Amino acid sequence: MINEKIAVIIPAAGAGTRMGGNIPKQFIELNGEPILKRTIAVLQNVDIIDEIAVAVPKGYTNTVNNYGFSKVHHIIEGGKDRASSVHLALKSLSSNADTDIVLIHDGVRPFVTTQLVYDIIEAVKNHQAAIACTPVTDTLKKVNSGVIDKTLDRSQLWLAQTPQGFTYSLISAAYELAEENGTLRYVTDDSALIEQQGYPVQIVPSSLKNIKITTAEDLAIGKIFLEAMSCEK
Ligand code: C5P
Repeated sequence: MINEKIAVIIPAAGAGTRMGGNIPKQFIELNGEPILKRTIAVLQNVDIIDEIAVAVPKGYTNTVNNYGFSKVHHIIEGGKDRASSVHLALKSLSSNADTDIVLIHDGVRPFVTTQLVYDIIEAVKNHQAAIACTPVTDTLKKVNSGVIDKTLDRSQLWLAQTPQGFTYSLISAAYELAEENGTLRYVTDDSALIEQQGYPVQIVPSSLKNIKITTAEDLAIGKIFLEAMSCEK
């Protein structure tokens, strides 16, 4: 693969309103810009990315269209869970069927860096499947009815993030199979589908700054990151 065609899927179709208010969390503004718009902007600016497909909740297609990103070629209405949204977006890419590498990145992780995207793509070229991860630093406890069952050995444990990258053929076949088996709704992480098929998935060390903005506390942390970034400039 020399001139690989690289696409990004951004699942952003969650209804998540845990932060209060009545708009989904990906459309909440972080220092004046919607979280999703910030996420798309990072990926739009990675020169080797050719196209982006975004899965949005019903009624938000125009919102994302109005952001005006030239690489966003597909804006689709997502499904009832994240995996269904990813699968629908994968199918939208297959309409032109020439994608070589697909990155999947949560719409609510706006602090992804260009370097991490490059690192994932490089790892996919070498290993076919690669995901961003951070090592676990806290001690993990397995708990049963409020009582510790056992302490887990954290030396081999990593936290999975996105982006996750795959060859198009590998990930689309894995999603097709999960849909046929009826197991799609149990999938919370794309790489799990590849692991289940026995393929090795490479990890790419990432940063804890690549947070998934889910709660009001995450939003506050995001604001602190932005302030620190503007001081660095
Ligand atoms: O569910 P979770 O908080 O892990 O969501 C991760 C990403 O998946 C979010 O960007 C969310 O909008 C997206 N999602 C989706 N379709 C759903 C549910 C979640 O695209 N039905």
